[in-house]
Amino acid sequence: MAPSATASSNHTAPTALPLAAGADAPHGNSAAAAIRATNGLNGEASKQHGLHFDTLAIHKGSEPDPSTGAIIPNIALATAYQQKTVGMSGDKGFDYSRFSNPNRNAFEANLAALEGAKYGFAFASGTAVTSAFMGMVPYGGHVVSVNDVYGGTFKLQGMFKETHNVETTLLDLDTEGMEARLEAAMQPNTKLVWIETPTNPTLRLVNIAVVCQIAKRINPDVFVVVDSTFPSPWYQNPLALGADAVMHSCTKYINGHSDVLMGVAVTSHPEIARRLKLVQSGLGAVPSPFDCWLVLRGLKTLPIRMREHGRISLRLARYLDAHPLISEVIYPGLPSHPSFELLKSQIAPKALQAQIDDGVDIEQGIQYSGMLSFRLACDPRDREPGSKLLTELKVITLAVSLGGVESLIEQPSTMTHFMIPEEERLKLGLGHDLIRMSVGLEDPRDLEQDLDQALQKALGSRSTVEAEQEAKRRKLA
Ligand SMILES: *Cc1c(COP(=O)(O)O)cnc(C)c1O
Repeated sequence: MAPSATASSNHTAPTALPLAAGADAPHGNSAAAAIRATNGLNGEASKQHGLHFDTLAIHKGSEPDPSTGAIIPNIALATAYQQKTVGMSGDKGFDYSRFSNPNRNAFEANLAALEGAKYGFAFASGTAVTSAFMGMVPYGGHVVSVNDVYGGTFKLQGMFKETHNVETTLLDLDTEGMEARLEAAMQPNTKLVWIETPTNPTLRLVNIAVVCQIAKRINPDVFVVVDSTFPSPWYQNPLALGADAVMHSCTKYINGHSDVLMGVAVTSHPEIARRLKLVQSGLGAVPSPFDCWLVLRGLKTLPIRMREHGRISLRLARYLDAHPLISEVIYPGLPSHPSFELLKSQIAPKALQAQIDDGVDIEQGIQYSGMLSFRLACDPRDREPGSKLLTELKVITLAVSLGGVESLIEQPSTMTHFMIPEEERLKLGLGHDLIRMSVGLEDPRDLEQDLDQALQKALGSRSTVEAEQEAKRRKLA
């Protein structure tokens, strides 16, 4: 049985809901009440007030506390709330903190506003969100998923095959010939189309709008969900492109400080919202109030961090592109990236406009989040150069994960993607020569210097001066 169907049935579907409620709106444990609470702070309401992304990131869910005037929410650790009467929720709308609590509601309201969604649901990890969506597929149902997914998502797809007989078809969703491949993959029992864009670690872009159009034309009831963890809501808003729901691993950019594990799903689709609420409170993979408080704190600087991640990454991508010991740089914002044109239409308009306003020549390069991959000038079957490079770095840290203020770097072939058999890995372009970097917010000159000195040790018989001269020659050519 699908997890969503095992949840208790005392939850009612949301109906048309008022948008006027504020942060102190009642938060009940029924789906409708909880959704109403989130809804009061949602994107539509904020658009009515004409607030921009940066303002929402700071203020949504952090409205001054009516009882004390505190400008930052208190951390509400209570697991139970007093009730004046018997029944399912206390007079302030809270009863038991798995169903809803002030810090979680505040975070959900903020994220929903940033994605322009009506509803937001926080989970204990990004993976718990992915499993909530997989659980919406009935027993024996079918999923179509982009083939280059996050490793944990791939693992979950396998687990749901075993436990729920849910088959997942992994598909290359690159633009070229995609329509025919998607049409061929969709089955009458396809319930979920799973997009992750950019993909990981080869940073391919999936055209969200086109996938939604095709999938919905074939089956209007299919749910299209986008894992938008890499771009964050600053650079990408999938709901505006036709997706039904968006998920983020908040562990990454949303929190941004590598100290919380958390996930979130947002949607404006009432049926998806109802099911997410059921899974959230019914399966119980919820984050703690403190984690929600920390992530809401992180969100206040999300737009500033993301712009800086983008600026530093584009600069670093160009530096590496000109480096003689690097054979290829993969960054969607470089004009050499195969999806550069798609990026221009898919990037959130506010993020593109902000760059144009800053005088960035977007024909020469677009700042687009902080993930970049590159290939060393070495044999893809030789693991030594990459291994040497990563252990010689002094500023950049060898670690998995991403999206924090500190730069992290890894070798997918031996770390995040080691479980893929070698021949398959090489076909996907995941040789030992491929390095994935989460570009942090350090001074880019230190990052460049650090990479250069480690590259020389790993690969170079050449001196830095020679390498720089060659880089300059290549830039001029
Ligand atoms: C990290 C990550 C996840 C999983 O999130 P957790 O918070 O680690 O459970 C899912 N998708 C992407 C793209 C990720 O980077």
